[in-house]
Order: sequence, then structure tokens, then C-alpha cells
Amino acid sequence: MKNKALKRLIYSLSLMITFVPSLSFALTAHLKHDTVVATGYKLRTIIVDPGHGGSHPSGASGTFSHGASGSYSFERNVTLALALKLQKEIEKEIPNLKVVLTRTTEDDVSLQRRAGIANENKGDLFISLHCNSLPDRHIREVVGHKHHKPVYHTVSVPDHSGRGVLMLVYGFHRSGEEENAIKQNLIEGGDTEMNSDPTNDPESLILANEYKRKYRRQSIHMAELIDTELVNTDGRHNEGIREQGVHVLCHSAMPAVLVETGYVDNPDDEAYLNSEDGQNTIVASIIRAIISYKAEVEQVSP
Ligand SMILES: [Zn+2]
Repeated sequence: MKNKALKRLIYSLSLMITFVPSLSFALTAHLKHDTVVATGYKLRTIIVDPGHGGSHPSGASGTFSHGASGSYSFERNVTLALALKLQKEIEKEIPNLKVVLTRTTEDDVSLQRRAGIANENKGDLFISLHCNSLPDRHIREVVGHKHHKPVYHTVSVPDHSGRGVLMLVYGFHRSGEEENAIKQNLIEGGDTEMNSDPTNDPESLILANEYKRKYRRQSIHMAELIDTELVNTDGRHNEGIREQGVHVLCHSAMPAVLVETGYVDNPDDEAYLNSEDGQNTIVASIIRAIISYKAEVEQVSP
């Protein structure tokens, strides 16, 4: 029963949170006062997830996606290059922070497996790297005339107008699945208090819900830190922070952010994403965000 005091604290915290009308972005300001993470908490393991993969030109599998493509490059290659650089830099810049990559080769890894790797390695933070693209626009064109009336044809036109970065954090569309991932992590985490079925134990369920709330707050906060670096320091155009039901984020029972690093189908962004300089700049920004995040979550409360 060594965790009883902690659980009481979490219970009363969760009661307090129940009465906060909305868990808005403003709540991230209270992150440093989160007692659950502040007491001796260390950011030990970071999961870096290079989006997509697969060396086959066309996607044959329903769950595997080969990602966005530009005029000469593919998302799967750009994200792998970024992830490998990020791993190298974290190991150089941030002592005692272990980096686990969900893929190190061109081969694709399923979304389930990616989340599995994150949970098995007990990640403290999950960063998924992607490149964006826009779907073709459909426009109606006059292709001729018949009986003095125009004849229209619908044509697809590539849309290269998307640019800049976008942060995605998990939204609550799949809360049931996320809850299961959290429960599983708690059970596998060896906390004997949690070895009973949490659904039969209201207190355990409250604890699981509190974890869920904590991931959301921290995920949004991490997204803000990365976004700020990419926009304020690097001068990138940005599309903000969005909550979305992203599969790989909801199955990873830890704070998780998906970073759309740029539009690979936009000529300027594609050149930036493929350049040594652009990649190093993106990696340096994510490193600064991780350092800030680490300092905040490890800060011992007074
Ligand atoms: Zn993607």
C-alpha cells in the first residue's frame, strides 16, 4: 500500500480537475505544479517515430501508408533522415536520455507495432515525424462547345499551396482505446495496486483517467514548445496545434506529439526538408523543445 498517499493525492487532484470547466490550453501553465510528475520524475526515454516507410512504390496494405510525395522526394525518406539526425543529436546534447526509434530502415512498421515499441520501452515522450501534402484540387474546365453550349470536364490539379509546420496531438475520438493502453501500461508497470481489473475498481479508473488528462496537457505543452521553436526561431510558417484522433498517438500511453515538419509537395518546403541545413535546423529546434520540456517536468516542486 506504499502508493496509497499518492493515490489519495491523485484522487483529490482529479476531483479538483472535475470542477475546472474546461481543460483548456491555459492549463499547461500549471504543468510545473503537477505533483504526479514533479517528485523525482526523470525523463529517461524518448520514442522517435519516423512516419511511414516501405520501399514499394504503391501501397498494397490497408494499414500501411507510404506517405506523402514531392517532385523528387518521399515523406518516408525525409522522416527517416530527420529521425536518425534527431537521435544522434539527442545522444550528443542531452545526457542520460535514451532514444528509441520505431524504425531505422526504409521498411514500414505498422501503427500498432510503433505504439507497441513505445510502450514496451516505457517511453516518457513520443515524437512522431511526418511530412504534409495536399490532395489534388478538382476543377471544372471548358473542353469544347456543343450546340453553342460549353462542355465541361472535371480535372485534377495538384495543389502545391500548403506550406509550413503543423502540430497534432491526440483528440478524444478514441478515448476507449487510449484508456486500455493506459491500463495495460499501468499493469505492466508492475504497480501491484493496479493488478486488479481497473474497470472493477473505481479508484483505479480515476487514476487511469488522471493519467489520460496528464498526457493530454503534456502533449499540448510539448506541441507548443516545438511549434514556438520552429516558428519563432526558424521563421517557419505554421498552421498551429490541432487535436486529432491519430491512431499511433492514442495507442502510446505517454505524452505524444505528431510534428508535420513541412509540405513535401510544396517546392520551397521540399527543398528545405531535403537540405542538410533545413534538416539540421528542424532537429535543433526539436532538441531545444525537449530540453525545455525535460527541465519543466523534472523540476522538483517546492
Ligand atoms: Zn505522414
